[in-house]
Amino acid sequence: NAVIGIVGGGQLGRMSAMAAARLGFRSHILAHGPDDPGAQVSHAVTVGAYNDPAVLRRFAEAVDVITFEFENIPAEGLDLLSELRPVHPSGHVLRISQDREQEKTFLESIGVDVAPWRLVTDRESLGKAADALGYPFILKTTRLGYDGKGQRRVTGAAGLEAAFEALAPKPLVAEALVDFGMEVSVMVARGQDGTVRCFDVTENRHRDGILDLSFAPARIEPALAAKARETARRIAVGLDLIGILGVEMFIGRGGEVLVNEIAPRPHNSGHWTMDACPFDQFEMHIRAVAGLPLPEPVRHSDAVMKNLVGPDDMALWPEITGAPGLIPHLYGKREARKGRKMGHVNVLFARGALPGEFGMRAALGPLAEPVADLVSCKAD
Ligand code: ATP
Ligand code: MG
Ligand code: MG
Repeated sequence: NAVIGIVGGGQLGRMSAMAAARLGFRSHILAHGPDDPGAQVSHAVTVGAYNDPAVLRRFAEAVDVITFEFENIPAEGLDLLSELRPVHPSGHVLRISQDREQEKTFLESIGVDVAPWRLVTDRESLGKAADALGYPFILKTTRLGYDGKGQRRVTGAAGLEAAFEALAPKPLVAEALVDFGMEVSVMVARGQDGTVRCFDVTENRHRDGILDLSFAPARIEPALAAKARETARRIAVGLDLIGILGVEMFIGRGGEVLVNEIAPRPHNSGHWTMDACPFDQFEMHIRAVAGLPLPEPVRHSDAVMKNLVGPDDMALWPEITGAPGLIPHLYGKREARKGRKMGHVNVLFARGALPGEFGMRAALGPLAEPVADLVSCKAD
């Protein structure tokens, strides 16, 4: 009846705590507030700032092992936690994934391809990056970006200064804009005995910088899916990962696999596993953290996941709960602010029977796009 400590009170911590409970563990969440999504379902909560040494110490001393649902805990905090309890994934893994410069440098060092990029610290390095990459490119803060926040597209020299001004003086990376054919992700878990498990490749669609839809399996050739999974495996091994990691990738039009970023925690694009797999990404994560064996990541169904974002999607909640075939998951957040992830819905299909674009959207019932959008989609 070990106690799993989870840093972060968001929905990923909530769903991790629910998986932990199913395996007979208790979870203790470090959250900003007692009513945070994770705190609502855990056995105990420490409320406080994630960079306050006294808070971190109190939290660590109450648990047996520590993990995260949030990767931006400051380095000193990580060190303190690691002195007190086993921490999975390790501080080393978190540090790399907190910083786009370190992340890209690491990925290249293990032979994983990323989009061409340059570090930008001032106007001079900005100019050199623009010359080297050409337009368009993307400027991103090296740290603390999410849901597309902390980045600007630069389409030509005229927009260079404004983009820099908007993000500076933070350190930045400039990345070539990838003309990708598809965005995919792979959830990879690695256990304490070194076993690596990859879920099937997920196809992702974003809207306004926020994940909107994920489908599994991604509609790509088996050889390309194998390449994407092999890339995720290589990263997990290269990091000496214990736990789960989401690897976001671009599939180029020529079949190249470029890694966009990694997240050493359960990932939004892995939520379809909750209903399409006997062992979902949260269970796989908790098993790794607790030192249990990692089962085969079997997928018994094809699946579509749709995020419920902000007040517009939540206005449909009464219809969602009444629609056949929709499996709703709600995170217990009180306020449906614009752009806020409130929950998600999964829809299952028989294995091998994932419909085309039109069928997928139709299966989402009240969440299907307006007809105007539907007719612009390719027919099945
Ligand atoms: P999150 O952590 O929520 O996934 P983020 O703020 O860290 O998002 P990224 O994942 O880097 O941001 O970028 C968000 C989205 O912007 C990507 O999923 C992709 O659709 C697009 N994007 C980012 N970088 C590039 C690129 N180099 N070329 C083309 N599209 C990109
Ligand atoms: Mg990110
Ligand atoms: Mg991303």
